Amino acid sequence: MSPARRGLPCRTFPVVLSAPSGAGKTTIARRLRERRGDVVFSVSATTRAPRRHERNGVDYHFVPVDEFRRMIDAGELAEWAEVHGNYYGTPLANLTRAVERSQFLLLDIDVQGARQIRKVAADAVHVFILPPNGDVLAERLLRRGSEGEEVRQRRLSNACGEVQSAAEFDYVVVNDDLDATVDAVEKILATESHRVQHLPEMGATLERICREIGKHVAPPPGGAREIAQTQERSQ
Ligand code: ADP
Ligand code: 5GP
Repeated sequence: MSPARRGLPCRTFPVVLSAPSGAGKTTIARRLRERRGDVVFSVSATTRAPRRHERNGVDYHFVPVDEFRRMIDAGELAEWAEVHGNYYGTPLANLTRAVERSQFLLLDIDVQGARQIRKVAADAVHVFILPPNGDVLAERLLRRGSEGEEVRQRRLSNACGEVQSAAEFDYVVVNDDLDATVDAVEKILATESHRVQHLPEMGATLERICREIGKHVAPPPGGAREIAQTQERSQ
């Protein structure tokens, strides 16, 4: 049960999902969003061309390079990076809107972006998704069929460098069985909700509990003088 449901309000936080291309982050993010109404996907801006099934404003904000540069210059991006030959960036508005709406923001971003998010949103929780092995990664990327051979090769050759940055993350999850992976990420979210850093009103809650305990504590037989003497002795 979340701390909020136990009377301890929890501040929502961004959740960064990074992985080499084809490891399954987009699939995991979609499943997690379906399970939890308080999770929202961070729609990035990109100069990459849309894939067949992708919708502008839903999967990405597909923008020309000029518009992407304008967004950088205008300070509209919380982070951005060149990944596999295209530009990708997280609109700052995604982060502020999620805070206003008390939503967990899921950011499917690369390791360069994750490093920048650490500076912009210190409360973000960083999860790295690993494939069970290299063969499975290559097979998933091939089976997805969303890239031509050249682009697929480029993504595969970048994968080793990305995998090596896994140790920078707070959590690492191997995406073997999809349901088990989504369970693991959901548990991370639930566990992190109990972190003191994410409990903004804990002081008030502790005071309330102490007041409530105080009502059950019988006064000592000697009254106030006895309390003072006990305190003096303990100093
Ligand atoms: P990414 O967003 O990391 O590039 P995707 O989510 O697009 O990866 O997943 C790549 C491919 O692998 C997709 O075809 C997806 O359906 C498939 N996939 C993802 N997770 C699993 C899994 N646990 N088992 C089998 N196939 C998976
Ligand atoms: P794809 O083209 O497969 O959708 O994404 C390619 C890579 O770009 C993935 O590693 C994905 O996580 C990353 N990516 C997507 N959006 C962003 C973003 O806003 N910022 C950064 N830095 N990387 C992103």
